[in-house]
Amino acid sequence: MSRYGIVYLSRANRSFDRAWTYRIPSALQDAALPGSIVAVPFGTRKKPINAYLTELADTLPEHVKESDVKSIASLVSSRPQVTEEQITLAFELKRRCYCTIGEALNTMIPPAILAVGDREEHAARLTDPDEAMDLLDAGRLRSMKQIRVIELLLEHESASLAEIRQATGASQSVLRTLRQRGILTFFKQQTARELDTWSDDALTTEIPTLKPDQQTAFDAIVHAGEKAGKGRLSEFLLFGVTGSGKTEVYLRAAEKVLSSGKTVLILVPEIALTPQMMHRIVSRFGHRAAILHSRLTPTARYETWQRILEGSVPIVVGARSAVFAPLRNLGLIVVDEEQESSYKSETMLRYYACDVARMRAILNGAVLVMGSATPQISTFWRTETGKSTLLRLPHRISHQGLPDVEIIDMRREYAKGNVTLFSEPLRIALQETLERREQAILLLNRRGYSRTIICPVCGWQMRCPRCDVALATHSHPFRPERLPQKMVCHLCDLLTAVPEKCPACGNDELMAAGAGTQQVEDAVSALFPESRLLRMDQDTTRGRFSHREILETFERQEADILVGTQMIAKGHDFPNVTLSAVLSADQLLGTGEIRSSEQAFQLMTQAAGRSGRGLKKGRVIIQTVQPDHFVVRTAAKQDYETFYREEIVFRRRMSYLPFGHIAEAMFKSFDEGAAEQMARVFYNRVVALIRRYGGTFSATEVTEPAPAPISKIRHRYRFRVMISDPSLESLSRLVFHAGDHTKRLDNVSFTLDIDSWSSL
Ligand code: ADP
Ligand code: ZN
Ligand code: ZN
Repeated sequence: MSRYGIVYLSRANRSFDRAWTYRIPSALQDAALPGSIVAVPFGTRKKPINAYLTELADTLPEHVKESDVKSIASLVSSRPQVTEEQITLAFELKRRCYCTIGEALNTMIPPAILAVGDREEHAARLTDPDEAMDLLDAGRLRSMKQIRVIELLLEHESASLAEIRQATGASQSVLRTLRQRGILTFFKQQTARELDTWSDDALTTEIPTLKPDQQTAFDAIVHAGEKAGKGRLSEFLLFGVTGSGKTEVYLRAAEKVLSSGKTVLILVPEIALTPQMMHRIVSRFGHRAAILHSRLTPTARYETWQRILEGSVPIVVGARSAVFAPLRNLGLIVVDEEQESSYKSETMLRYYACDVARMRAILNGAVLVMGSATPQISTFWRTETGKSTLLRLPHRISHQGLPDVEIIDMRREYAKGNVTLFSEPLRIALQETLERREQAILLLNRRGYSRTIICPVCGWQMRCPRCDVALATHSHPFRPERLPQKMVCHLCDLLTAVPEKCPACGNDELMAAGAGTQQVEDAVSALFPESRLLRMDQDTTRGRFSHREILETFERQEADILVGTQMIAKGHDFPNVTLSAVLSADQLLGTGEIRSSEQAFQLMTQAAGRSGRGLKKGRVIIQTVQPDHFVVRTAAKQDYETFYREEIVFRRRMSYLPFGHIAEAMFKSFDEGAAEQMARVFYNRVVALIRRYGGTFSATEVTEPAPAPISKIRHRYRFRVMISDPSLESLSRLVFHAGDHTKRLDNVSFTLDIDSWSSL
C-alpha cells in the first residue's frame, strides 16, 4: 500500500511543471496506479484539476511537510491510461522539446480520454438545405471554411461537430457563427461505437518468396532482433527505389516479431495516401492489426486506443501520432518513407516522430527500420557514421527497369514562342499516352488556379489584408461551372472577389501569374477535350474518404490523367500509368528551406517512380529552366548517392543538419511592438548566457530579432530569433533556459522549435 502519489499537472506552465506529492485516500488505494489520470486540488483553484500520476511513494520527499500534503480528489479514468514507457517518453520529450510533462502526455493520448463517460456528441445539420444552397450560389459567404461546411452537410445531411471540424478544417467558432446566422442547427446524437472491422475473408495466403536482396535485409533485421537488448539502439536504413520490395520486408519481419510474442509499430506518412499498403497489412494480419487513422472520429480513436492498451492488438499502423501507441514489449518499429515532413509536428508539442521512434526502440530493445527510396541526408549520414546499418534493395521487383527520364529545357520552348504549361515533347507524349489508352500523372506543386494576380502596368499585386502573402485565385472548389473565380488566402482562408481593375492605376487588364493545379486542369481540357481528368490537391481531398475515392477512381482507369500537387507522387501503384511529368522543377528548387534540395530531389524521383509500374515501360518528363542544376540532373538519373555526395558537402560547409542544429524562437502578437519587444528581451537573455558560459557556446550563433519571412498571419505579427549550434544538447539547454527566464507578455505568444521543417 502506497500512501503517496507523485503527479504532474496536465495543464501547467513550465514553472509549475514539477513533481507534486499528494496523499492517496484509502478508497483509491487499489485503483490509483502509475499512469492513472487523477483530479487534485491545487493552489487557490476552486475545482480540482487533472494530473498524471507518475509514481507511487511510501514516504514523503524530504522537503515536503505532512501538513502541506493534500489528498487526490478523484480518479478521472477507471484504469491507467498511459503506460510507464509513455511516462518515460514524456520526460525524454521535455529534454528535447520546449514543453511540459503534461503537454507531452496530453499529446500522446486520444483527446476523448479526458472527456470519458460522455458518450453523447454534438452534431449539426443544415436548418434549411435549399436556403443554404441559394446562399452558396449567391456567393455571399466570406470564408472558404464556411463554404466547405455547407457543402459537406449538403452531401451528408448531418455529421458530428468533431467530424465536421476534421473534414473541413473549420474551427468551433466558424460552426458557432453559422449557427448564429441560422444556417446550422445543432443537436445531440449518440456516438456510433462500432469500429472499423475487417472481414477475415480478405486474408490472403499468397505470400511471395523473398528475392535474394530482400532475404539479406530480412535476415539482418531478424538477427538484430534476436541480439537486441534494452538500452541499445539497433537501427537500419532500408534503402530501395519504390517497387523494390521494402514493404514486403517490413511485413515479413513483422510476422516474425509477432510470432515471438512481441509487438510491432508501423508508421506511414499519411494513412489516406497509402490505401494499398493498408490493404496489404489488413489482408496479412486481419484482426491483429489496428489502424490509427488521423481522420478517425474521436470515439473510434478512443476505442482503438483502449484495445491497444489492453494488449488485444499486437500490431499498430498509423501516421505521426501513432508513434505514441501504448504497445507494450515492442520488437519492431518501422518508419516507412522516413523522409516525409509529416513526421514532424509543428503544432503544440513540436516533436519529431522519427526521434520518438528511436527513443522507443532503445527503451524496448526493439529494432528500428527506416525505409526510403530517397532518405534524408541526415539519415543516410547515420549509416556512414555507424549509427545505422544500410540495407540496399537496388532492383525493382518487376522486370521493368526504371523509366526513362527526359529533361526538357523550357528556355528553348519559350524561345520558340511556346509559353504554355506544356512543352512540345510533353504535349506529344500526352497525346500518345491517351491514344494508347494508358494513363498519365501531372505534378505541379501549387493548388488553386494561379498564384496571384498582378497589374502588368504598375506592378500592383493583390495581397491579403490579414497576412503578408499574395492572394491566390481559385475556381470554386466544388462547382466551378456555377461560380466565378475568387481570390483566396492560403494562410487564413479569406475569400474575396477578383478585382475588376487595378486599384492603384485603374488598368483593367489584370494578369494571372504562376499556374496552379486548376489551371493545369483547364489547359489539359483545352488540349484534349475528350480526356477524362481527375485532380488531387488539398482542395479536392477535404472529405474523410475523398483521397481514397480519387485514387480508386484512377486505379479503376475511369480517368486518363491525374493532375495534382505532391500528394499524387507518393507510393501509389498504378500499373497503367506510363507517363509522369513534373511541370516545373524550378518551382521546387531554391525555396530557401534547408531541406529544399533534398525535398525537390525526393519529389522528382517519386514522381518519376509513378510511371511504368506495370508491364509497360514508363516515361518521365521533367520541365525546367535549370537543366544543369545538380538536383535535376541526379533526380533524372534516379541517382541518390551522387546527389547525396554533393549535398552533404554543402550541408557541412553551412553547418546545416546533420552538422548543426537551428532553434527558432517565434514571437507572435497583434501588437507589432510587443512581439518585437519580447523577442528583444529573449535575444538579450541568449546573448548574456553565451557571454557568461563562454567556451560551451563558442560555436553558437544568434540572429538579431527580425520579422519572419512571412511577417504577418491573420493580423498577427511574427518576429523571430534564430540560434544555431553544432550540439543539439547545448543548443536546447541554452534556448530552453533563456525561454524560461524571459518575462512573458500577455499579448505575445511564444514558441520554440528546434530543427523546424518550415522556416517561414
Ligand atoms: P516497395 O515497398 O519498395 O515499394 P513493395 O514491397 O510494395 O515495394 O513491392 C513492390 C511489388 O512487388 C508489390 O506488388 C509486391 O507485392 C511485389 N513483391 C514484393 N516482393 C516480392 C517478391 N519477393 N516476389 C514477388 N513479388 C514481390
Ligand atoms: Zn496597376
Ligand atoms: Zn490571409
